[in-house]
Amino acid sequence: MSKSKSSIVIITAPSGTGKTTLTRRLVSEVPTLSFSVSITTRPIRTGEKNGEHYWFVDRENFLRQVDQGRLAEWADVFGNLYGTTKDEIARILKLGHQALLEIDVQGAKNIRAQYPDACAIFIMPPSIQDLWERLRKRGTDSLTVCKRRLKTAGEELKEGKNFQHFIINDKLDRAFSELKNLVRDGQAVSLTYEQGLHHCNALIDEFNQIDWLSDDLALNKGKNTRKHE
Ligand code: ADP
Ligand code: 5GP
Repeated sequence: MSKSKSSIVIITAPSGTGKTTLTRRLVSEVPTLSFSVSITTRPIRTGEKNGEHYWFVDRENFLRQVDQGRLAEWADVFGNLYGTTKDEIARILKLGHQALLEIDVQGAKNIRAQYPDACAIFIMPPSIQDLWERLRKRGTDSLTVCKRRLKTAGEELKEGKNFQHFIINDKLDRAFSELKNLVRDGQAVSLTYEQGLHHCNALIDEFNQIDWLSDDLALNKGKNTRKHE
């Protein structure tokens, strides 16, 4: 299915899939694509800059903006509030650029309700095993936090059906070129909607086999893991 270029692009993926890696590269290679900077109550991480990664605000400020109707969408993710301001979307569209929203599944649903022409892309890992290894190898979170992120992934995958396009981030360069061709040129991705949903369901099945009590989640013990090449 081919689709024309959308002015709003939503990218969503379970934590650890590689969406930050992919979107950073996308913004650097597509000059007419601007990253929509969200507001959040999450504490700033080392290396992050206010106004570049997020606008970091306190809870009171965030909720005031909600009350004033300034947010196009917002959600509680991992206990922190995140939201896209209407001003940020308007600013990017005024430049004649495409707005890239890297937001969670709830936010994606809400944006699509307001901007039906938005292009919603769900990026998936090749397997839950790979997702777990990426979360652990990234080294930014404790074992407990990684488990919480993986648990949330199970919920997020159930929302996969609400997206129009699916990309599997197996080989980074391959996944990136599909993403770039879709966003920049409206070129169809390799997976059909049905194939994407099928992979999403396979991930849910794999997720349901997790032994949550094991020290470092020995996933699919003795089972046939779907390793990518
Ligand atoms: P997210 O933003 O979805 O949480 P990140 O972009 O932080 O994910 O990526 C999670 C980890 O996985 C990082 O260490 C990144 O380098 C790695 N990664 C991303 N894409 C791939 C890939 N295709 N193959 C292997 N590792 C990857
Ligand atoms: P992180 O804290 O790791 O940067 O982001 C955590 C999660 O919040 C990710 O799934 C990210 O996509 C999501 N997120 C970031 N900004 C927004 C936003 O403005 N709205 C919503 N709904 N989710 C967001």
